[in-house]
Amino acid sequence: MDARIPPLALFGMQLGDAHVLRNAGGRVTPDVVRSLVVSTWTMGTRRVAVVHHTACGLLEGSPGDVARAIRTGGGPDYVPIPLLGFADLADSVAEDVAAIRGERMLPRDVAVRGYVLDVATGGLQEVEVDERRRRGTVRAMPEPPAEG
Ligand SMILES: [Zn+2]
Repeated sequence: MDARIPPLALFGMQLGDAHVLRNAGGRVTPDVVRSLVVSTWTMGTRRVAVVHHTACGLLEGSPGDVARAIRTGGGPDYVPIPLLGFADLADSVAEDVAAIRGERMLPRDVAVRGYVLDVATGGLQEVEVDERRRRGTVRAMPEPPAEG
């Protein structure tokens, strides 16, 4: 959702090259799954990149920070939907990559990779995903991912 991020340019792509699903935190929600089901089965999408970013409003220093920020902004005391804030970028990417990989409504041959974007530098780091523990570790990535 972050207005500083040009998602296609991050991967060396142009208008028409990819479907882009954006939301607060870049989280995998039921609507993201719905869109992936349509994209994969009707449009042939077989590669998915999950990108979360530094300085994200969903990154919480302590649990409840997002809800407090909403209240501080004059919003309701209680929002009856999951806000999906997270404490660690690599772990949140890993959680969402694992969620997509494990989604039974998607084709088996969809390749899912996860990344953390540094909004200050524009640098992209791939996240190594431990699917079983749903934990992630960032690793440096000097070049955009190659085709294939
Ligand atoms: Zn964000």
